[in-house]
Amino acid sequence: MSMDWAKEMAKLLRSGATMLSYNCPECGSPLFRLKSGEIWCARCQRRVVILREGEDESAVVEQELLWDQLEGSILEKLSKLSGLLSAEEEPRRVREIAESISTLLASLQRLRRLKR
Ligand SMILES: [Zn+2]
Repeated sequence: MSMDWAKEMAKLLRSGATMLSYNCPECGSPLFRLKSGEIWCARCQRRVVILREGEDESAVVEQELLWDQLEGSILEKLSKLSGLLSAEEEPRRVREIAESISTLLASLQRLRRLKR
């Protein structure tokens, strides 16, 4: 634990933040709940989101949560387009829908590479 980090933690506690029983998924340091309700890692200096309240709650960095949400949205759109495609008879519309599907699939692939 570096001196700066210890100072940062002391500052957080003085400002009314509370230490949580979760650790940061990135660095393993204890997380703090700020007075504003945000969850903060004093060491990484960034916001963390707690997933799933309950027995198997876990912390993820906000960026991972964003990727998950994005992946969900893409999959949802793909499912809708798939329905549209099977109902569509008009060749021009079929091509448009197929192009949209292809774009979304490429985005999904890129996203999954980012998530690793
Ligand atoms: Zn951290």
